[in-house]
This record gives sequence, C-alpha cells and structure tokens, in this order.
Amino acid sequence: MYPYRPESMIADEFINDDEILQTIQFANENKHNVELIDSLLEKARPKKKGNGVVCAGLTHREASVLLACDIPEKTEEMFRLANEIKQAYYGNRIVMFAPLYLSNYCINGCVYCPYHTVNKSIPRKKLTQEEVRNEVIALQDMGHKRLAIEAGEDPVNNPIEYILECIKTIYSVHHKNGDIRRVNVNIAATTVENYKKLKDAGIGTYILFQETYNKKSYLELHPTGPKHDYNYHTEAMDRAMEGGIDDVGLGVLFGLEGYQYEFAGLLMHAEHLEAVHGVGPHTISVPRVKKADDIDPGVFDNGLSDDKFAKIIACIRIAVPYTGMIISTRESEAVRGRVLDYGISQISGASRTSVGGYTEAERPHDTEQFDVSDNRSLDEVVRWLMENDHIPSFCTACYREGRTGDRFMALCKNGQILNCCHPNALMTLSEYLEDYASEETKKIGYELIEQELKKIPHDNVRRIATENIEAIRSSDRRDFRF
Ligand code: SF4
Repeated sequence: MYPYRPESMIADEFINDDEILQTIQFANENKHNVELIDSLLEKARPKKKGNGVVCAGLTHREASVLLACDIPEKTEEMFRLANEIKQAYYGNRIVMFAPLYLSNYCINGCVYCPYHTVNKSIPRKKLTQEEVRNEVIALQDMGHKRLAIEAGEDPVNNPIEYILECIKTIYSVHHKNGDIRRVNVNIAATTVENYKKLKDAGIGTYILFQETYNKKSYLELHPTGPKHDYNYHTEAMDRAMEGGIDDVGLGVLFGLEGYQYEFAGLLMHAEHLEAVHGVGPHTISVPRVKKADDIDPGVFDNGLSDDKFAKIIACIRIAVPYTGMIISTRESEAVRGRVLDYGISQISGASRTSVGGYTEAERPHDTEQFDVSDNRSLDEVVRWLMENDHIPSFCTACYREGRTGDRFMALCKNGQILNCCHPNALMTLSEYLEDYASEETKKIGYELIEQELKKIPHDNVRRIATENIEAIRSSDRRDFRF
C-alpha cells in the first residue's frame, strides 16, 4: 500500500488510489452539506489585493465536494463563480490555436484511439518536411499563429529527431505576413534528454494527456506498447520539468473512467506539480471520447452528459484558477459556446485531425484521429466569438518574452496578466483582421477593438496599443508586444 504524498516523485504516491477513493466518499457524503459548500464557494471567490485580484483555488477534496453537489441553485452559483474567476484572471480573451498532425504511425495499443497498432485498415502517413511546410502555409493563410503538433509513438517512424526537424521547419516558414510563433508539442512520454532537446528547439507547452488516472483501467486501456507503463507516463511531466520545460499541459480523456475519479486525479496531479516544481499546469484540456475509424465511443460506459461536462469544467476553473483551459473541435459549437462562459480560455479553430488534413483537397480525411464536431472556418469561429463578447487572441507574447512557468503563474495569480494580455490580444486580433478576415468579420472586429481599447486602465498602455493598431492598419508592421 502506498502512502499519499503530493511531493513524492512516484506516481502511485502523488496519484494515490486510496486518497482518490476516500475523496469521492467524502464528496458524496457532503454533497448536500450546504454550510460546507457555501464556505468553499466563498473561499474560491476572487478577492481584491492591491491593484489586482487573487483567487485561492480549492484542493482536490474541496473541489470534489462541489462537483458531487447536485443542488440546482448551488450548481448555478458554481457556474457564475467560474465565470467570475475566468474574467478576473483571463478577461474575455480566448486564445486561438490549431493542431497539426505529423504522423499517425504508432506502436501503442490504446483501445480508444484509431492510431493503435491493431488498426490495420487506417492508412499510415507521416509528413515529409515539404508537406509540413505546405501544411504550415495553409495554417498561416487561415491566420493561425499557434500550433499544437501531434504524433503517435513510434521510435522508428517518429523519432525525436523527426519531431525536432518538423519544429524547425514550422518556425522557418513565413508566408506573406504569416508566421507560427508558438509550437506546443503533444507527443508520447519520453526521457529527460529528449525533453531538453524539445526545450532547446523552442517549444511552448509540452502537452501529454493522462487519458485516465485510474491505474487499473489505464493498464487495461493500454494493453500493449511503451504507453502501458502507467508510472512512466504519469511521471512524464516531472521529467519534462527536469528537462527545462516549465509550461506543461495536463488532460484526461473523459468517458474512459468514472468522472469523479478523473477529476480528483487531475487536481492531485496539479497539486503535485505545484508542490514539487512550484508551478502548476500551464493548461488543462478536457477532451471527451469521440467516434473515429474503428472506435465506437459507446463501448466505454462512462460517457458524460453535456451538463455534467460543463460542471466539470466550471469546477476545474474554480479549483485551479490560474490554469489555461482548452476545448477542441471534438465538441460542437453549442457545447463550446456554453463552456466558454465557465472557464475555457483557449480553443482550436478550423482543425483537421488527419495527417496532411490542411492540404487535402476534400474530406474524408481517412487518417483522422477523431471526428470533428465543429467544422466551421477560422473566420467563422473568430466572428462567432466576437459576437458573443469574447476577444479572439492570437497572442504568443508571454512565451516570446520569457514569461513562462513560475513567471507566468506569478503574473496570473496576481491578476496582473490582464495588463499585458488584453492589449496584446487586441493588437494580434488587429493583425488577423487586416490579413485574413472577411469584410464582415473585420467590421465587427474593429468595433470590438474600439470598445475594448477604452477599457484599458493605464493611459500609457492604451496609447501604445492604439498607436500599434493604427500602424497595423496602415501596413506598418511592428513586432511589438507588452
Ligand atoms: S493515443 Fe497516442 S499513443 Fe495511443 S494509439 Fe493513439 S496515437 Fe498512439
């Protein structure tokens, strides 16, 4: 039996099965304990501090009580609170990104993924550097500045050298006014040595989904391949941090296991990173199992309703207020629209989840990893966000200014990030509007920018942002950022 120790470097201790089971029991016993629930909501509420705002967050046990609570008025209060916290730390900005699939060769046996090695019907494809370049041009032509690269685990077809070469190619492409300014990387758990190489290649966030924190289920869901090693996978973020990557992204694949278990495990992982490295996850993603080639989500019996899914998102936002939260095009427009108000801060747009998907003339995209539910163009997504009072942001300034890891977190936790992110969002939105937007989107965009500039409290910051936006509009490109 392992003890529960968040500061341990052993997965069985910081993601401790006993602690999770006791947490779920405690949460279920207290789900109608209104006094406790009120005190937790009060604890999590944003509080003024100096010129900024601070949010205390909640522990995995505390947040699990909120998640278990099924009192409708309290749930509504949680949704409102999640929105308040999101506004306090992130404002109404939504960061835009797109995935780029490099290769679907994979030697793992993950039962929920069509790239698993037993799938003999799916075509296997790996992009050449020329194809990477063409995909990047297609992404730049839409207006993307931030990518998340994806590849299956295959040391022969997708060795680290291949990934590094692709990153170099991506950063080297500058088509018209386009460039990719941040490459986040979602590849299999690897060694400290390889994480150092990724760091040196200038990656943004290293993303690795845990899939499930339940070790028993994990071993069943990953029957073969290197990913079968639960501890090696779960301890990957510690190795990434040791390799110098201080922005890491967590996530589980909701639907594989009971959601209460995953929720507690995810928060314990965040607590572990804070306890050991002094910095929690840069992002948390919330994918749900989806249909794909040879995958039927119905065989996993832990499917979540949209209501429960929304509540999980709100409770993660309340518990880990500083983290960026990501939702992909796995979800429909309706679901994405709803959860943007409960704490999501990053979304993908116009995604293709197949290898070479951005340059394939038309569907069916036979190498897709999962079915996309939101098939709108980037222009449509950007316009939709603005019509719903969000500011689509193409900003990558923090990473380029070295504000990563604890430096980003310190700004964020003090509520100070708004002083630079808000103007940066407006300037990069202006770049997008000039270079890529339809006339209708452009019109709505500049009306929004005008209103939002007025909200910048510091005269100097407002003046500089206004000047830069005027310069962008008159084609005087400046690489300025706060
Ligand atoms: S989830 Fe990743 S590791 Fe597993 S089969 Fe799919 S691509 Fe391979």
